[in-house]
Amino acid sequence: MKYYFRYIEEIKPPLNGSMLRGLSVDKAANGHFLIKASDKIGMKTKDFIDLAVDQHDELADEVQLEISKSESRDTVSRLSDLYHKTHGKNLVPKSEESIQVKLVGDMGMQVPVIGFADLITEDDMIVDTKVRSQNRKLDLSRDIQLVTYSKITNISKVAIAQVVDTKEPKSDLIVHEVNELSINSVSQKIRSVSGAIRKRVFLPAPEGSWYCSKKWCFYWNICPYGESSK
Ligand code: SF4
Repeated sequence: MKYYFRYIEEIKPPLNGSMLRGLSVDKAANGHFLIKASDKIGMKTKDFIDLAVDQHDELADEVQLEISKSESRDTVSRLSDLYHKTHGKNLVPKSEESIQVKLVGDMGMQVPVIGFADLITEDDMIVDTKVRSQNRKLDLSRDIQLVTYSKITNISKVAIAQVVDTKEPKSDLIVHEVNELSINSVSQKIRSVSGAIRKRVFLPAPEGSWYCSKKWCFYWNICPYGESSK
């Protein structure tokens, strides 16, 4: 249903506080890895944090923040500091061209795929940067985006470099080796979803999905499977 509201009805969800904080850390990470690709060091911690905070402040007034602007800024500062000291230090880009790489391909079933990988490292790993507000367990073998990137690039190792905005902020690199089983299961999912979209059948989120809720879905109030179904 999200696809229907976003691409058929063209209702674009506005940037919210957590998206803004994620985008701010992302921007600093991209800048850092671009420099690191040529000098192997990258940005100093202070410059990294400043870049993330500048990005935050540039857009903060256009966003409906769920906390005060200064709290949101402090969170960006804390999370970007942690990101820089962990992922920023440990991950090494393959080259300048391996940051925000545009990937175009298909999963072998005439469903074209276009995406952007945040980073490809020198040891051939596709990395997605994530700022998360909850420490939920991730199963990368079912991650449609990363498994698809793995298939179209022929790079089997994928990872999420995450910082989690919990009371005690956490940083983890979750690595997964994509196998044929994951590729087949993701291909199957893409095939069934794209087939349904072509027939203009728009499916709701699976029963019990945590993100199908007032808190996490922007379309909750207008979706027939959201508020009105309760
Ligand atoms: S309310 Fe649930 S089914 Fe409807 S768009 Fe949101 S996530 Fe999908």
